[in-house]
Amino acid sequence: MTKPIRAARGTQLTARSWATEAPLRMLHNNLDPEVAERPEDLVVYGGTGKAARDWPSFHAIGRELSTLGGDETLLVQSGRPVGVLRTHEWAPRVLLANSNLVPDWANWPEFRRLDALGLTMYGQMTAGSWIYIGTQGILQGTYETFAELAKQRFGGSLAGTLTVTAGLGGMGGAQPLAVTMNDGVALVVECDPHRAKRRLETRYLDELADDLDDAIRRVIDAKRARRALSVAVIGNAAEILPELLRRGVEVDVVTDQTSAHDPLAYLPKGIEMDDWHDYAEKKPDEFTDRSRDSMAEHVDAMIGFLDAGAEVFDYGNSLRGEAKLGGCERAFDFPGFVPAYIRPLFCEGKGPFRWAALSGDPADIAATDRAILELFPENESLARWIKLAGERVAFQGLPARICWLGYGERHLAGLRFNEMVASGELSAPVVIGRDHLDCGSVASPYRETEGMADGSDAIADWPLLNALVNTASGASWVSIHHGGGVGMGRSIHAGQVTVADGTPLAGQKIERVLTNDPAMGVLRHVDAGYERAEQVAAERDVRIPMMGV
Ligand code: NAD
Repeated sequence: MTKPIRAARGTQLTARSWATEAPLRMLHNNLDPEVAERPEDLVVYGGTGKAARDWPSFHAIGRELSTLGGDETLLVQSGRPVGVLRTHEWAPRVLLANSNLVPDWANWPEFRRLDALGLTMYGQMTAGSWIYIGTQGILQGTYETFAELAKQRFGGSLAGTLTVTAGLGGMGGAQPLAVTMNDGVALVVECDPHRAKRRLETRYLDELADDLDDAIRRVIDAKRARRALSVAVIGNAAEILPELLRRGVEVDVVTDQTSAHDPLAYLPKGIEMDDWHDYAEKKPDEFTDRSRDSMAEHVDAMIGFLDAGAEVFDYGNSLRGEAKLGGCERAFDFPGFVPAYIRPLFCEGKGPFRWAALSGDPADIAATDRAILELFPENESLARWIKLAGERVAFQGLPARICWLGYGERHLAGLRFNEMVASGELSAPVVIGRDHLDCGSVASPYRETEGMADGSDAIADWPLLNALVNTASGASWVSIHHGGGVGMGRSIHAGQVTVADGTPLAGQKIERVLTNDPAMGVLRHVDAGYERAEQVAAERDVRIPMMGV
């Protein structure tokens, strides 16, 4: 594949309806070079998260979506189109299952064996489900996480604090901007200079230092002046973090977003960038051992900062789990970000709600931004985010927006967007979806369901119910994945995307999907015994048979 892929823009359909044009454009958008990390390999983000299994599958999906009828459903099995079945107009137009393995077989070596045979692919969360919107997708979550951390620990702002982290990939690239949006200083370690340059170009990162001494000088100056600044340094986190600790640099917050969930996507110490992928492919077991050893050293340094009083957390990449396998006994001394900062939001059915303008016109997103501000005038943090995002987020691919909305809110936004499509305020339909990292759509004991109040961390019925509920409620495409975020054997999660094409039927579907999908978050957290979720259920009339029983 040599010609870059880009989603069609404008109102001219290439498929038979918007219901099928939308997944086609979003599949293409996932592989737009502005959006995807390695489009030539079909890799969208998160190490090896792919949009389709191989190029013949990609082309076949495109052909099928172009001709699919309004009462047909395309089935995608780990990135390969395997059938078209007669369904009905309320049914999803696409159903996807990616990377799922029977639990006893759910490990990286077995996955890789099957992958090498061409039988599966790694779908991450929004790569294989065609609703990745570039780094903005995680920016809001990262911004919320740092905002909550600042509230809990630093009186509401990161001003005058230094955050050290690593990884400037598709997700990790959001970290520097999320820190500076909270007025803090960020030092980000990245081993691949191309990744760092890309974040500079898209304005997620302010500066690239010449070397570590230069980086330390810049961030300490900014910290002392209480000036927001983000600086990247090229190097290996497993070397730089211990060095920062040794030098006694005053670090206030430490986290990480290297692709630690997959030991082959984390660069061990002592291996050159150029040799990385060849070595990993030829000797995966040896590489895995070296990678885990390095992660153990990396996490040892994080614990050193923890002991010195810094706020340290795992940002959902399984770094603690892998470091523990590498011999770091204290790996779990610091918490994951969900129990530390995000769970109260999940109790309200809140999570990363997002939409993309199929027109390709940024004016459509500006109009939806205004609509969100009008719909929720009392929500100050939402208003602050929408304003900052409008000013500072460079779109990648189709213009898109993300904001965290909860149960009782999301459907209002969706219905308003659908009206705006119908009235011509928006120049073409929008798709409305979310990350799989949501309140009621994921079982992931190292991340979203870490430390649940009732110990139900590993119960995976919830994401399956979530996918079934979205299918029954009229979503346009629904997916069930395994292993996203934290790697094989460690998570099961589901996603939905719904098209707002301005028709009354779309309005009915949107109302149900965007009510029922976040309701799963409320149900999940009531069931686990969270008082905040019970309050939300009582206030907003969510029917829960066993509540209070
Ligand atoms: P990515 O593969 O696009 O980027 C990872 C980056 O880490 C790359 O740029 C790579 O060069 C760099 N890197 C690898 N080893 C390194 C080392 N030793 N030192 C310095 N840099 C190193 O992945 P991504 O999409 O940015 O995701 C990062 C991680 O976050 C993944 O594990 C992913 O599963 C996880 N994730 C977390 C969330 C969340 O909400 N917290 C959401 C999605 C994904």
